Amino acid sequence: MNIVIGGMIQESNTFSEASSALRDFQHYYFLTGDELLQPQSVENELAGFVRAAAEEAPGVTLLPTVFTQAVSSGKVPRRTLDELKHILLERLERIPSCDGVLFSLHGAWVAEDEDDADGEIVEAIRSRVGPDVPIVITLDSHANVTRKIVDGVNGIVGYRTFPHVDYVETGYRAAKLLFRIVRGETKPHIRMRKIPMIVPAERHETYRGPMAELWSEASAGERDGRSALTSLFLVQPWLDIAEMGCSVVVMDEDAGCAEREADRLAALMWDKRSLFDIKLYQVEEIVRQLATESVRGEPAVLSDSADSPGAGSAGDSSFVLRELLRLGADRRLNCLLSMVDRDAAHAAVEAGEGADVKLRVGHSLSRSVGQPIEIEGTVVKIGSGKFRFGGGAASNLEANMGRCAVVSIGTISLLLMENPTFTGDPAMYRSVGLEPLEADLVLVKSANQFRAEYELLTRQIYILDTPGASTANLRSLPFRHIPRPMYPFEDGFNGK
Ligand SMILES: [Zn+2]
Repeated sequence: MNIVIGGMIQESNTFSEASSALRDFQHYYFLTGDELLQPQSVENELAGFVRAAAEEAPGVTLLPTVFTQAVSSGKVPRRTLDELKHILLERLERIPSCDGVLFSLHGAWVAEDEDDADGEIVEAIRSRVGPDVPIVITLDSHANVTRKIVDGVNGIVGYRTFPHVDYVETGYRAAKLLFRIVRGETKPHIRMRKIPMIVPAERHETYRGPMAELWSEASAGERDGRSALTSLFLVQPWLDIAEMGCSVVVMDEDAGCAEREADRLAALMWDKRSLFDIKLYQVEEIVRQLATESVRGEPAVLSDSADSPGAGSAGDSSFVLRELLRLGADRRLNCLLSMVDRDAAHAAVEAGEGADVKLRVGHSLSRSVGQPIEIEGTVVKIGSGKFRFGGGAASNLEANMGRCAVVSIGTISLLLMENPTFTGDPAMYRSVGLEPLEADLVLVKSANQFRAEYELLTRQIYILDTPGASTANLRSLPFRHIPRPMYPFEDGFNGK
């Protein structure tokens, strides 16, 4: 059988002023044509597609199109979406016929003039291959699953872990499902339930807490034959769009069975809504605590998740730096911080190692969230801008910070970078000679994904109450378009 493969993975945060262009995809992860079939070190969904096909060789031939990913951002510009769609359609045009399509999306991709960019991509593929060719997609478990996506495909497979570590398995599972559909061995019905709730991403982890309980129920349903394959989607909460909400997707050959299981799991998710509430900390609380109890070898890891590039924020907030300077942490605590600031990174690199610099840093992109601040420090290191992720993001993917430099401000080390990157992997600081284990305080900008690596280093982890487009404090965000009632803005209504 001939199977088309591809993927376009990005998520949007409609509150963020960060933007993304085609070059942001090209810089992060961008493969076309036969590049998709070459041996890859990156452990993503594509690797799962290729592995599943290899197991069935020579019965399955993969027809590659494009597989790309970019760091999250605000709404994707129409021009960027059109350019990506054009690249995909051009590749599809060259394929005369196929028996099935495997495609990876994030879900929760919003364009400036289209609330459902993933749905638009699905529609484009469907219109090219026709109504009879089965399409199976993979989605991130933070996807906002829409009616258009469900109606356009024959199978949906979501990640089952957060922090996400099952990219390969998800791709593999989707591929095996598609092969069975193509061979006529199964014809699943898809049933989706939308649940009127959004919850902070900081409590989405699947190895403990409410999501672990929900997954245990979902897996039991699969074992007991109530579902052939279930996916649970706790949507990332920073989308101000009309079709917003968490969802449950159940696939089964028996449509009634899929209906009942989707209803059962949707009701269970609704019942657990308040268990996702989290405690947020003030920077001042932690600094005061560290003044008496700082322990070398077990740093306090503070997450400014409100400014998480992984959640579409700009990564350029100066809020925590300002607080640390106000509290005098630059005279007594060894702190590691990072910040996206293109101009400041360039200026530091140009000044050179050893140079004393005066810089204005912060909020070059997120102008409505805060103000830049003036700093005086010394450039202590100019980095290559490159490092490889361990388990904290798609394993073995190479990060590209662009021009970057470390400026020391007393005992604070500030890593300035040109491009946003996932900040929750200690490899980022280590790539510029900073060792998290030797610090008192380490700042990351990530809701939860950072736990995959940082929980191996420390037990002291705090989510901060800071301003930003991806704050856990959902009530502080100006939602206007989401359906109401919606938890947590309203409660006491029947969300089942
Ligand atoms: Zn995710």
